[in-house]
Parts: sequence; structure tokens; C-alpha cells
Amino acid sequence: MRHHWSLFAKRVLLTLLLTLLAGWLIGYPREALLLFLISYLAWTLIQSFRLHHWLYRGLLTDPPESNGLWGELFDGIYRLQMKNARSRDRLQAMINRVQESTNSLKDAVIMTDSTGAMEWWNQAAEDMLGFRFPNDRGVVIQNLIRTPEFKHYFTAKQYRNPLHLLSPNNKNVHLQLQITLFGEEDRLIVVQDVTRLIKLEEMRRDFVSNVSHELRTPLTVISGYLETLIDNVDQVEPKWKKALLQMQSQSNRMEALINDLLLLSRIENQGRSQRRNPIDVCSLLEGLLEDAKALIGQQSTRVTLSIETDKALNGDETQILSAFSNLVYNAVKYTPEGGDIALRWFADTTGLHFSVSDTGIGIDPVHIPRLTERFYRADPSRHSSSGGTGLGLAIVKHVLINHDARLEIQSRPGVGSTFICHFPKERIGDTANDGIN
Ligand code: ADP
Repeated sequence: MRHHWSLFAKRVLLTLLLTLLAGWLIGYPREALLLFLISYLAWTLIQSFRLHHWLYRGLLTDPPESNGLWGELFDGIYRLQMKNARSRDRLQAMINRVQESTNSLKDAVIMTDSTGAMEWWNQAAEDMLGFRFPNDRGVVIQNLIRTPEFKHYFTAKQYRNPLHLLSPNNKNVHLQLQITLFGEEDRLIVVQDVTRLIKLEEMRRDFVSNVSHELRTPLTVISGYLETLIDNVDQVEPKWKKALLQMQSQSNRMEALINDLLLLSRIENQGRSQRRNPIDVCSLLEGLLEDAKALIGQQSTRVTLSIETDKALNGDETQILSAFSNLVYNAVKYTPEGGDIALRWFADTTGLHFSVSDTGIGIDPVHIPRLTERFYRADPSRHSSSGGTGLGLAIVKHVLINHDARLEIQSRPGVGSTFICHFPKERIGDTANDGIN
């Protein structure tokens, strides 16, 4: 470039000298200089006009022909423009490809800015959520998905768990929505159709509940006859006595199993419990303490109850009683004679808590994550002697889910276990929540 500049300067200087020399020879050096300056200015002006005209005609047309500095200027601008156009085309091709691939996705993908204004979405989003291009572009997504749950989910920015909602287009379609933050609080929203999964889950629940119902009647008949036979056991041949007693114990177990299965499916079907229903947990726990003492009977196991708050809990009393009693009965079941069981109901800044601690057999840490699964047992060899159904902690888990609560399990084998139900502060009874928030 430097070389071109010096060549250009040399050329101008040479022309100037020649003009001055000619002017001096004919005796008009000043006029010659003036003539040179005027012609140079005119040439520069003409080239500027040509550049202006070319710029306004569109830079992708051929550049005007010129030589010297102006010719290089035109060519340089033209080359730069062509390079820009090529990279723009490449970028556009890439965007088209990404759009094509996301359009072929079965899941809906939506991009919004930090306020929720819709920037881009794929074809599946139009089918699932009824968005329309280009009318909905720039529209705030909360105005298109108008449920309070979505509004809350969108603004709360707690996107670890997905949100379930019904399609605004078709109330029979269940959707699962997950938001990811990117850039400056922009959002990438992915929506999946989970109708099939929900239907399968419903079918499983219905099946279990129907089978349990159907089994209940024949079992009642069998238990009834067994009871009558055992009541008159003296008239029965002695060799059948042991068999009859075993049959009765097994039919009792089956009955307990069916009752727990029905309870579990009822809890699952009820879903999240009504918030405005304060439960008097203190008297509920006092009743439970008496039940636990009755269960312990003549054994020397001690059980204590510490009530440290009079706050009420908003929820479903029957469900809460099932959950708490399962934890207390487990503590009794898995604590050998002479142990201690402590029940505690307390409040702190995070909410309300119910804990059951025992000095029982404890649980190996490997089992803890799976303990709330149906029929999961830490020690299968012991289950028949414990008389449990294997559904107790599954019931606890579902009750807690229905109450926005979670279960914490701490345990050391041979030392004891603590099961804590943590209820969020939003679940504190309306009349008694002063001083917690
Ligand atoms: P189960 O009817 O067998 O007691 P649960 O669902 O109530 O079924 O409990 C699942 C398993 O968790 C039990 O089989 C037992 O191994 C373990 N478990 C529950 N509570 C305790 C406890 N307090 N101490 C020790 N192990 C426990």
C-alpha cells in the first residue's frame, strides 16, 4: 500500500513540476499553477461524484473504472463488499440449517428475551402451543400461555425441575416445559408432549387400584371363614390348627398390603392437597404417641414426644396422619427392646418439621436413596418378621409431595435412624404464622 501511495505522490509531483516548467517557459508560471490546481480539484470532484453514485446504486454492482488512487479505492471497497457478502451468505446458510433442523424436532423450541418477548420458535411450538408466525413475534409469552403456574415458573427462575401444563390448544394434551437461561437472562424454552407417559402412568395407577379393589372381596370372605374356623379351633382336627393360624396371619398381611396399595393410589390420585385446611398437628401427634405406646406394649422401649411449636400445618389431615404414623410405626418396628424413640415437632425460618429418631438397627447408606421406592427393603430377609408391607415409605413420600414437603433420612447401621419431614413455610397455617416469615 505504501508503494502505491509513493507512486501516486510521485506522479502528482511530476505533473506539478512539468506544469510549472511549461508555465515558466511561456512566462505564466502562476497561471499554470492555478490551472493545475483547478484541473486536479475538478478531477477529484468527478471521482467523488462517481463514488457517491456507485454507493447509492448498490455496492454489489461493478465499480466505476478509474486509475490511480481512485481506481484502487473503488476496487478495494468492491473487494471488501464481496467478502462481506460471502460471509453473510455463509452465516445465513448456517442459520437456515439450524432452523431447518430445529423445525424437524418433535419438541417445541422457543427463544425469548429476558422480558419474555418471543424472538423465535419452531414448527412444533406452533402445533403444540398454537403460536403463529409472524403475528406472535415480540409478544410476551405469558400472554400466550396464560396459566398462573407458568407465569410463576417463568418469573421465579427456579428451572431445575420441569413444569407440567395442559396445551392451550387442546386440553387433552399434557406438556412438560423446561426453561434454560442463556445470554443476558434470555430464555430457551423446550416443551415436550408427555401425554402418552401420563396416560400410561394413569393406566398403571388405575390397574393397581382396580386389582386391589377386586381382591378385597374374596379376601374378606376367606378371612371371615378363617376367623370362624379359628374361633372353633377345638372342633378342628389338631393337625390343621397350625395351618389355619398361618393362613390367618398371611391373609392379614394380604389385607394390610391391599389397604396400603389402595391408600397409595388414593394419595396419588388426590394430588396436591388444599392449602387452606389447617391441621392441629399437636393433638394428632399426641394420639400417635398413645398408639406407639400401645404397640410397644410391655416392652421396655421408651418413646417421647416434644412439641416445640403450636403452628398449624395446612394440608390434608388423613394423608398427614398416614405419613406420620408410618414413620412412627417403622421406628417401633426397627428398634429392638430397650431403645429410645423421640418424636419432635418444631418450626424454624424455613418452615415446619417433624422428626422421628430411633436408636434402632439403622440403615446402610447404600439403601437410603432407594428406600422410598415401593416394596424396597433394606434387609429383605427381615421383612416377613417385621410384618410391614414395603409401602410405608412410598406412602410417606407421596404425602410429602402432595404437601410440597421433602423427606430427609439420616441413619447409621447399628446406631439408629432419623426421618425428618420438612414442610415449607408457605404451608404454615394461616392463623398462626406470625413471626416466622
Ligand atoms: P416396611 O413395610 O418394610 O417397613 P417401609 O416402606 O416402611 O416398608 O420401609 C422400607 C424399608 O426401610 C424397610 O424395609 C426397612 O428396611 C427400612 N426402614 C424404614 N424405617 C426404618 C427405621 N426406622 N430403621 C431402620 N430401617 C428402617
